[in-house]
Amino acid sequence: RRQILVTHDATESDRIEMMRRDFVANASHELRTPLTVINGFLEIACAQPNLDVKTRLSHLKLMAEQGQRMQNLVEDMLTLTRLESVDYPLRPERVNIHILLDQILQDTQALSGGRHDISLEVDGPDIKGGTEELRSAFGNLATNAVRYTPEHGTIRLRWKLKESGPEFTVEDSGIGIRPEHISRLTERFYRVDKSRSRETQGTGLGLAIVKHVLLRHDATLAIESVPEQGSTFRVKFPRKAVCEDTLEKG
Ligand code: ADP
Repeated sequence: RRQILVTHDATESDRIEMMRRDFVANASHELRTPLTVINGFLEIACAQPNLDVKTRLSHLKLMAEQGQRMQNLVEDMLTLTRLESVDYPLRPERVNIHILLDQILQDTQALSGGRHDISLEVDGPDIKGGTEELRSAFGNLATNAVRYTPEHGTIRLRWKLKESGPEFTVEDSGIGIRPEHISRLTERFYRVDKSRSRETQGTGLGLAIVKHVLLRHDATLAIESVPEQGSTFRVKFPRKAVCEDTLEKG
């Protein structure tokens, strides 16, 4: 019996070590690409100091884009690391859902720049949780809806109280996801289409962050999708998350 336990422990630590190595390999790879681009343009700038202003400006813009990509990546990696750390406890507070979702609606509209029809419906109570963490989780889901929905598509954000507890849904009429990908989407760096994700400044870490924020709230994520028709990301909170006094008000 003792032996089985030892084997089990070794397998578990092997698995963790493998995940750690994968993460470092993926992260290094993701950082190398933008760094190569930036270094390439820097070399050109040194070798050809008299380049015309227009060309130089276009090189600077491309470098800035890659710099932003590296920044997004590093910030997402830090967020994930914090969320996974046991030394970083979630301090539950009252989350004002109206304020939070209004901000997310505004950010989503700004990102879309009028290319989508975006709406928000709030019909449910406030909850106890981490406001910043939920902003990041809900924001990532809404951002993805914009990024993976072609122009003129619709995006619906909803907050509702269901029998099992409060529910946040993001429904889009976008490109959808084939069923074989769905169970892997919350893995770090997993993407259905790498080039599309990169074009829209994706890091491949958004849904991993969502998963960890939800874990900390005892909430779950359900994903339904039909390719070419759209996806619904459904976040279900437990009933105990409700701030009961908002129920009486509303
Ligand atoms: P990324 O930064 O690449 O968007 P995420 O972790 O947020 O990383 O998402 C992982 C992958 O899941 C995306 O690359 C994309 O393939 C897929 N995905 C996420 N949200 C949607 C959506 N609303 N519609 C279609 N595909 C999506």
